Amino acid sequence: MSPRFDIAVVGGGAAGLAAAIAAAREGKATAIVDRMPRLGKKILVTGGGRCNLGRERLEAGLFSSTDPSLVASVFERFGTREITRFFEQLGLRIVSDGGRLYPATNQAASVLKVLELEVRRQRIEVFTGFEAAAIEPAGRTFVLPSVDGRKIEARAVILAGGGRSYPALGADGSAFALARALGHRLIEPVPSCVPLLVRDRMCHFLQGQKIRAGAEAWVEGRAVSRADGDLLFTAYGLSGTAVLDVSTEISVALNRDKKRRVEIRLDLVPAMGRDELNMEILRRLNDGWAEADLVSGLLPEKFGKTVAGWIPPGSRTEERIAAALAEALKNQRLQVQGTRGWNEAEFTSGGLDAGEIESERLESKIIPRLFLAGEICDVQGPRGGFNLSWAWASGTLAGRGAASGFA
Ligand SMILES: Cc1cc2nc3c(=O)[nH]c(=O)nc-3n(C[C@H](O)[C@H](O)[C@H](O)COP(=O)(O)OP(=O)(O)OC[C@H]3O[C@@H](n4cnc5c(N)ncnc54)[C@H](O)[C@@H]3O)c2cc1C
Repeated sequence: MSPRFDIAVVGGGAAGLAAAIAAAREGKATAIVDRMPRLGKKILVTGGGRCNLGRERLEAGLFSSTDPSLVASVFERFGTREITRFFEQLGLRIVSDGGRLYPATNQAASVLKVLELEVRRQRIEVFTGFEAAAIEPAGRTFVLPSVDGRKIEARAVILAGGGRSYPALGADGSAFALARALGHRLIEPVPSCVPLLVRDRMCHFLQGQKIRAGAEAWVEGRAVSRADGDLLFTAYGLSGTAVLDVSTEISVALNRDKKRRVEIRLDLVPAMGRDELNMEILRRLNDGWAEADLVSGLLPEKFGKTVAGWIPPGSRTEERIAAALAEALKNQRLQVQGTRGWNEAEFTSGGLDAGEIESERLESKIIPRLFLAGEICDVQGPRGGFNLSWAWASGTLAGRGAASGFA
């Protein structure tokens, strides 16, 4: 006979752990199944190993989703205050670093540790190496077969199998298929918060150079997003926080909407306005500076040769040269060929249609007693603590919702 539980949670990442803890605290016999040998592997790499687990201010309006009202409703009931209290009750001290919340230890491992201790205290049964092959409704229960022939049964299921980013850490997109087989609609998942492929000699020549810059995503001649931050030139193209922050719109345009004219426009000298930069370059030209030195002191030395190469051939006057260089430095346009893909994407854009999830208990509107939480849902926040906030909040409410469904 297969083991039977009140609630089975598919996926032991951030959302699944929060869901299982919430369900077990309501007195329900709860199990977690996960395809990996260990739970919560992705938590360990978050925030560069520090785990940016939340935000001091958590604006639901910054998320994108097929159903923004679902996001707002979840954070109204389980926001920063509740997330902080949840962790502090588990014994984790939290500190704010410029509005971003981290464990005081500065180690993501501490976050996973306190969650694992609570899993043990709540006597949640854990099945690792258990890849759910299906969620089969069978009368008043569900049967969960694994790909290697094991089975468990449960009266309610919480599907928290994540998206597709960093598949080596567990979430490989296989969980989408479980929900689709039950009739859920999938908004095509695309890699999000991801470095970009740009075939341009400048990127190759400047590889390894990191500067502060502004970045704008342009799709079919229209600006769709803008960010300031780090810009890192690499052999394949561009990375850095400014690029990651505009990459979602670019990835959606290229990978889902199949747009062709997709550009990133860079402001390489964000500290100066265009006129000021123009005047400064003109002054340098009039003072007889060499072409390769024109941006010395404004950009790292390696840029000198590249920038000199932007002087339009046959420019006769210093005024024209200065204007052309100011334009190239403030509005460097680069065609984007693609993204670095799932292995380097911090999250997934797209997922299960959030409009098919009931907002009180996060129950599926299609299959009763199936609940959905975390990155598997079409809900994405910006970088920096938003996505884990969604995982904790949606997981907790789904856990409570599943537990409240039966006596
Ligand atoms: C490098 C990196 C850094 C990040 N840093 C931050 C950060 O600092 N702050 C922030 O807010 N967000 C960050 N994120 C995003 C955040 O980690 C995720 O949004 C969040 O962890 C998603 O949680 P989840 O539980 O929904 O999914 P996951 O954590 O991906 O967990 C899903 C689990 O389901 C399991 N699973 C999948 N399919 C099956 C199946 N068929 N059967 C059984 N088990 C299955 C997987 O093995 C996995 O353990 C980062 C992401 C990455 C990749």
